[in-house]
Amino acid sequence: MIRSVLDGRWAESRRAIRALADDPLFHPVSGLSVEAYRDRVWHQMTTLAADGRIRVGFPAAHGGADDVGSWITMFETLAHADLSLLVKAGVQWGLFGSAVLHLGTRHHHERYLDDIITLRLPGCFAMTETGHGSDVQALRTTAVHDPATDEFVVHTPDADARKDYIGNAARDGRSAVVFAQLTTADEEHGVHAFLVPIRADDGSPLAGVTIGDCGDKAGLRGVDNGRLGFDRVRVARENLLDRYAQVAADGSYTSPIANPNRRFFTMLGTLVQGRVSVAGASGSATKSALTIAVRYAERRRQFTVPGTDDEVAVLDYRAHQRRLLPALATTYAMHFAQSQLVEELRSVLGGDDTHAQRELESRAAGLKAVATAHATTTIQECREACGGAGYLSENRLPQLKADTDVFTTFEGDNTVLLQLVAKELLTGYREQFGNLDFSGTVRFVSEQVVETVVERTAGRSLIQRLVDAVPGRDEDADLRDRGYQLKLFESREKHLLDGAARRLRRASGATGTAAFDAFNEVQDHLLTAARAHVDRVVLEAFVAAIDTCADTAATALLDRVCDLYALSTIEAHRGWYLEHDRLSPARSKAVTATVNELCAELRPHARQLVDAFAVPDAFLGAAILD
Ligand SMILES: Cc1cc2nc3c(=O)[nH]c(=O)nc-3n(C[C@H](O)[C@H](O)[C@H](O)COP(=O)(O)OP(=O)(O)OC[C@H]3O[C@@H](n4cnc5c(N)ncnc54)[C@H](O)[C@@H]3O)c2cc1C
Repeated sequence: MIRSVLDGRWAESRRAIRALADDPLFHPVSGLSVEAYRDRVWHQMTTLAADGRIRVGFPAAHGGADDVGSWITMFETLAHADLSLLVKAGVQWGLFGSAVLHLGTRHHHERYLDDIITLRLPGCFAMTETGHGSDVQALRTTAVHDPATDEFVVHTPDADARKDYIGNAARDGRSAVVFAQLTTADEEHGVHAFLVPIRADDGSPLAGVTIGDCGDKAGLRGVDNGRLGFDRVRVARENLLDRYAQVAADGSYTSPIANPNRRFFTMLGTLVQGRVSVAGASGSATKSALTIAVRYAERRRQFTVPGTDDEVAVLDYRAHQRRLLPALATTYAMHFAQSQLVEELRSVLGGDDTHAQRELESRAAGLKAVATAHATTTIQECREACGGAGYLSENRLPQLKADTDVFTTFEGDNTVLLQLVAKELLTGYREQFGNLDFSGTVRFVSEQVVETVVERTAGRSLIQRLVDAVPGRDEDADLRDRGYQLKLFESREKHLLDGAARRLRRASGATGTAAFDAFNEVQDHLLTAARAHVDRVVLEAFVAAIDTCADTAATALLDRVCDLYALSTIEAHRGWYLEHDRLSPARSKAVTATVNELCAELRPHARQLVDAFAVPDAFLGAAILD
């Protein structure tokens, strides 16, 4: 029953990808040379492309179903298989394909989409440069319109401006969506995206294109990450992906969005599904690791109970439960937040509700940051929880660790993303946010007289009812009272946000360096506030998901898992709650005691909880489970 709650709306898409576990081609392997690994991943890609299931996220006119929810769910499930395959698929269909779909217009779709879907046109998403990753507006590749030939001249001015880390570039890509500073008629228009062919059919670089290989990496060794340089490469005017900006033959520039900053952020916003996908994929990798560690911990025995010959299963040790079960509870919580995010993406994408779009982008940034950080710490914990066996490649955990490590960096560095979340919260998802640099943000916040408002996300009326039902005196509330837990999460978020806003307000009137300094001084505070916001959003999603569960036994179990998520999170921040008089020392100790009780209560259900993730054994690829 829990499995069907987790599988949710796109259960069929999950099943379709799990079925790939029947084919040994999709089983994870280790120890291949880089070249053999790339070959294997390419073979997997062509097999996926041939059976057509990845079409689902593309428009009906191209054989798809316009079903972004199903596509992201399939992608998320594929993350149980080989993560190099996942990332390669993400680059080809998620990034390259999405950029053509969302930034291009009909003639691009007609000319390229079928070839992208079928892999006849392998491509790259070339945004990052050696010199600039997080600050995309500062990219330095140029694209200048030449009216004499009606072409764009794409150029890399120096080594710092070469495209770097680009997936699919080192070996397989034939074309790239290149992000470059557009100039027409001597006027600069900011970063735009262009389709630039990079290789001939025989695989050799085209004239003017320099291609390098990033070399050996910590993980994702089956992905060919590379570097691209352009020496005055000419492409036709039609190669501008022109949904948000058009250039005429004479070089005149038009755009439906007059403000260049807004235009830039609107363009990036259409690519939000990349972040949603990475958040989901990191959740799946975490589930794989927890499945291995919990199943192993049930059978692994060390030391006897005094006076008996009975060796103790390591999962019966409180310390071991403490290491795995709160992480398991958080993984459940993140799962429901992810499902809600995918629903939101489905309903917002392509619409014209700018407030909802901003909220979606902020939610995606926050969940991506928190889910990938959770994956990194949990997978490491699972590795240690399996002792020496966890260190062997044949037990998969080293590969999971190495492959997911970079998830905290690509699709937006986590620190930068959380900062974005904080800014959005402070400015109330203002449309002009795109214009708000440091001075703008400081000025904007200082002009606001009202206090920050915690906007409820999931199950608004349910959450309100639960919070309203909490007894007047906090000390009277049961720690397992959901309304009380929600209140503690909310009050922390609100206090942190109000405090950050107050500190920024003190800098009222500051501009330039002074505004930057004011913002910089509050940066750690802003990041903590953003993190507290995401924690609350995740708890609300969990509460809303339990509310829809029809089965009594499943509801009771999920309730306890939710308690463990809520109380272990509160416990992790108990210093803050004590400092701010939200918990008395006695109550803070009671939180720890209750987390321990919950670990004991959930211990007998641990196997059921990981089995509900339904990761096929062949995808787990861990010999210790044989
Ligand atoms: C395996 C791999 C695959 C990739 N694939 C692609 C791809 O296909 N296409 C593509 O375009 N890119 C790709 N990337 C690039 C990736 O998106 C960037 O590495 C990422 O955006 C971070 O940029 P950066 O490396 O320049 O780091 P930086 O932006 O230089 O960040 C370095 C450090 O500084 C911190 N920092 C930066 N700005 C701030 C700030 N304002 N406040 C506080 N701290 C800050 C960051 O938190 C980080 O810790 C890939 C990268 C890797 C490693």
